[in-house]
Order: sequence, then structure tokens, then C-alpha cells
Amino acid sequence: MPHYDAVIIGAGAAGLFCAAQASQRGLKVLLIDHSPRVAEKIRISGGGRCNFTNRELDVRAPQRHFLGENPAFCRSALSRYTPEDFIALVRRHGIAFHEKHRGQLFCDRSADDIIQMLLSECADGQVERWQPCSVRGVASAAPQGAPQRAPQRGGYEIDTDRGRVEARSLVVATGGLSIPKIGATDFGYRIAQQFGIPLVERRPGLVPLTFDGQAWAPYAGLAGLSLPVAIRSGEGKASARFEEDLLFTHRGLSGPAVLQASSYWRPGTPLQLDLAPGSDLAAQLREAKARSRKLIANELAAYVPARLAEAWVQQDAEWQRPIREASDRALHRLAEALARWQPTPSGTEGYRKAEVTLGGVDTRALAQQSMECRSQPGLYFIGEVVDITGWLGGYNFQWAWASAHACAQALNPR
Ligand code: FAD
Repeated sequence: MPHYDAVIIGAGAAGLFCAAQASQRGLKVLLIDHSPRVAEKIRISGGGRCNFTNRELDVRAPQRHFLGENPAFCRSALSRYTPEDFIALVRRHGIAFHEKHRGQLFCDRSADDIIQMLLSECADGQVERWQPCSVRGVASAAPQGAPQRAPQRGGYEIDTDRGRVEARSLVVATGGLSIPKIGATDFGYRIAQQFGIPLVERRPGLVPLTFDGQAWAPYAGLAGLSLPVAIRSGEGKASARFEEDLLFTHRGLSGPAVLQASSYWRPGTPLQLDLAPGSDLAAQLREAKARSRKLIANELAAYVPARLAEAWVQQDAEWQRPIREASDRALHRLAEALARWQPTPSGTEGYRKAEVTLGGVDTRALAQQSMECRSQPGLYFIGEVVDITGWLGGYNFQWAWASAHACAQALNPR
């Protein structure tokens, strides 16, 4: 049976990077993916330009930009492989890139540049890649019932549709559940369960939020409208506030503001939105009342998009009149309604539209220096399959690179 130092399952961001790094240390590596095409998520990421890292990542306080039951877990890997390290690699490959917004770095040309870079790094280390190739099952070669303190560090048999192989180490890099049509599966979670590794409940993250038909009827006509907002979601420590753009859709809300907030959102709880951040709307409307003959909607349009102003005033007859005829109370209510809008989503668009999966392999089961399972020597989990999820903005790829790097440094030759 062919023997490898490491078999890595999943040729996405984390799997490719881990394979490249480990092979360049001299390890014999086999990379397996069931999809015919490599790294499909990199290809579609960042609108086709791959937001490959974020310069604002604070490696001393990663919990600012990452979620999970123990977000501090990612500090070790992120501080040993930083955004600057990845940027240096991108530069070495002559890939042109630019910063778009809040430290987010994108390829100038195409996400394919990052894929080609990773493939070329794998080629440098002579990584063997089997694709498409299905894994039928994996088994620990350690004798059944062997005491865990005396692990046989040589120990996995992987049964594939191209035959059986054995490896000293098995790395699971099969990502999360989002976008099943391009190859996402629950494989990684099933392997974890097979070896008794605990999982944190999974749910879609960075995902548009939906509202039930009737509650959404007043806003359905706003589909396509985008505006800057402040948004807060979640409760206590598990909450966050973002100032980003909001997008109205036919079924609910999306745009960077809502994608970010969705990762903190829990069913049954409202979002807290300020649709006119940075302006004291109540004072502005009072001032307008003293000088203007215009309709309230027309005055409001100085602070929010006219389409929103028009739709918003339809909610109350007292708001559909010239501003000079409105009561102070009615104007105050209008300002409050816009600055403290608290809509309660009925759900999310699910894994079909989610950019990431929250939850996954419980970090308590892994060593943060190496990503190796504490109870199962030689078994590693890296990337999105682990219960670490980043904000929108290149943080998820940085976690993929950093966790892959930590693992690759820890893998041992036979
Ligand atoms: P993946 O990249 O998903 O790779 C997993 C691999 O495992 C895949 O190749 C898959 O085919 C393979 N696999 C799955 N099941 C099996 C199986 N049973 N057998 C064999 N192989 C299997 N993050 C950013 O930081 N910046 C962005 O710009 C960005 N844009 C995104 C846009 C979209 C539309 C989406 C969906 C995500 C985006 N993300 C972005 C998130 C980012 O793509 C992921 O967090 C990242 O790809 C995770 O890397 P990974 O290697 O863990 O998993």
C-alpha cells in the first residue's frame, strides 16, 4: 500500500496551503479532493478577486475579528503566520493587489492568481494531488483498544476510489457547509464524530437575513436599495456593532452590514439598526419644521435615500404631510423609528447563500500550536471545519492560511 507522511483531505484554501508548506519541509504529501476543480471557493471569493487577507487583523487580540466558543484559540496560529507573511508570498509571486476597504486586500486581476500561486507552491514541494477522488472511509491503523498514551504515530489508512493508502498523519481540510453546489460536505464533521472529537453546533454565517412575507411587505419595494447604516446584533459578549452598507432584498436584508451582523444573530432576536448614523435626525427635523414648506418625506431625503424616505412615511398618516404641519411628537417618533429600527428576522438564506459555517470541530479538542487532536495523535483539523469563524473582509482566508501553516510545521516525516 502506498505510504505518505501526510494525507490531506480537501484541496481548498487550507488544504492547498498546508500541502505546499509541509511538502516544502520535505514531507511526502498526498492531497485529495472529491471535486473535479481545485479551490472552488477561492475562485468565487471576493466577487472573483479573492479578498485574501486583512491588514487590520490584530494578532494580539484576534477575538476582535473572530467568533467561536473560544476565539482566543486562534491567536497562536495567527501570530505565527500573519497577514504580512501571506502578503510577502503574494508579492514573491508577482501578484498585483490593492486595498479596498478597512484593510481588505484583493487581487487586481482575478482570484485565479491565488489558486495558481498555491498550485505552484504545491508543485515546488512535489505534492501529489488526486482529484476528483472520493474518500470512502478512514481508519486509524493503531490496534483497536490500544492505550492512547502509547499511540502508534503512523497510523491512518485511507480508502479512496483510487485505492487504499496509508499515512502517518491525516489532515482534514474539508471546510464548512456553505455553497453545497460547489462541493461543500459534512465530511470533516463525520470524521470528527468517528474519532469521538466533540463538535460545536453548526449554523450559517455571513448570510443574508430573511423576514416573513407580511412583516416585510412595507419594505419589499425597496429591493436593490443600499445605504450606510450602523447595526448591532447578538447579546452580551457575543454581540458586535458594525458601520457598513445595508442592502434591501426581496426577501429581507443583506449587504456587508447584515452579513457581518448575521454571524452574531440568534433566531427570535431583533437587529438594532440606525438608518441615519451620524446625524441627529430629531434635531434636524425640528429645525426643518421651522423653515420648510416641503413634505416630511422630501426633508427626510436629505438624510436617507429618497426611496427609503418615501416608503418609510407610508407607515404613519401623521408623516404624510408638510413638515411645518407635523407635531413635534410625530417628528420625534419618525426620527426614533429610523435611528432605532429593530426588525426581527424570521431566518437566514441558509447554506445556499452563506459565506461561512459557524461552529465545527471544538477547539478544546485541538492543540492550538499544531491543530492536532489531543485524543487522536496524527489527526489534524484546519481551516473552516474548526469552530473559528472570521468577520467578512479576508479574515477567513487568513485563518485558513495560518491554521494550515501551524499544522504543516507540526507534521512529522515518517
Ligand atoms: P474550502 O476552501 O471550502 O475547501 C474545502 C475543500 O474540501 C473543497 O475543495 C471541497 O471540495 C473539499 N471537500 C469537501 N468535502 C469533501 C469530501 N467529502 N471529500 C473530499 N474533499 C472534500 N473568505 C475570505 O477571507 N475572503 C473572501 O473574499 C471570501 N469570499 C467568499 C465568498 C463566498 C461566496 C464564499 C462561499 C466564501 C467566501 N469566503 C471568503 C470564505 C472562504 O472561502 C472560506 O472560509 C475558506 O475557503 C475556507 O477554507 P477551507 O480550506 O477550510 O475550506
